[in-house]
Amino acid sequence: MPIPYLRFTLTLLLGLLSLLSVAEPHQDIKRRTITELCYEIGNKLGSVNEEDCLKQDLVQNGGYSKQGRPLGYKIYPPLSTRKPLGKVLLMGGIHGDEYSAISIMFKWMDKLNKHHSGLFHWTVIPCLNPDGLLQRKAQRQNANGVDLNRNFPSKDWDDLALKYWKERTYKNPRRFPGDRPLSESETIWFDKTIKEFQPDVIIAVHAPHRLVDFDGPLRAPKRLGNLQLRLLGTYPGSLGNYAGGDLGIPVVTVELASAGIMPSAGEISRMWVDIVRWLRTEIPKARG
Ligand SMILES: [Zn+2]
Repeated sequence: MPIPYLRFTLTLLLGLLSLLSVAEPHQDIKRRTITELCYEIGNKLGSVNEEDCLKQDLVQNGGYSKQGRPLGYKIYPPLSTRKPLGKVLLMGGIHGDEYSAISIMFKWMDKLNKHHSGLFHWTVIPCLNPDGLLQRKAQRQNANGVDLNRNFPSKDWDDLALKYWKERTYKNPRRFPGDRPLSESETIWFDKTIKEFQPDVIIAVHAPHRLVDFDGPLRAPKRLGNLQLRLLGTYPGSLGNYAGGDLGIPVVTVELASAGIMPSAGEISRMWVDIVRWLRTEIPKARG
């Protein structure tokens, strides 16, 4: 082969090789539908099947998890016959390995489906961290390895979140707050939902610490079903710290007794009745 051709061929080859090494295999995240999400949830949870999820007719408004799962929710709007006492944002599954905290949301939505009387205007988010739940082995954090309940932009985040994680949790990966507040699509969307919906109260459901925690104004509920009030204090970047402390929106944290075993049907109902009773007493005070 004459030299110029050889050189040309070599240059071409080198060019192609450099292209190959630069071009990372680009992974397009496939965005899934609510139907696909329900299929996955039904396969994962023992107490909620695909149909239990589909019949809720969850909607989404452009919020997606890191892996493209919709951040589905359901609104129980005000009724024309009655002015609601206030707005309640009810959320479960910010930690993906707390199965019961997600399953119970579907049970409570079933109650609202039957009995929604316009007393409150609800937004219900059954699972804020679907990627965590739907990994082969469910995990607390989202798909980026971030503990979403440490990723909210509380005033103390910059000074304390990473410091706390390093010095107090010894870099426990389960508590990683992210590199910066609101670094995750799930927390960005939830924060936007708070700003747009402007709830009077936020209720976040977790497991397995068997207690009720409370942050913010209003008088905390003494007990919900068998769960008793025990104030735990807050962490940098937690929802209680951010919404309860900085935004002044009362945050009730419900910690079910077991992450893997659902409360009895009776206990699920008693908790619900107690929640509604507490809201009925306290929200009018919040609204003055
Ligand atoms: Zn939790």
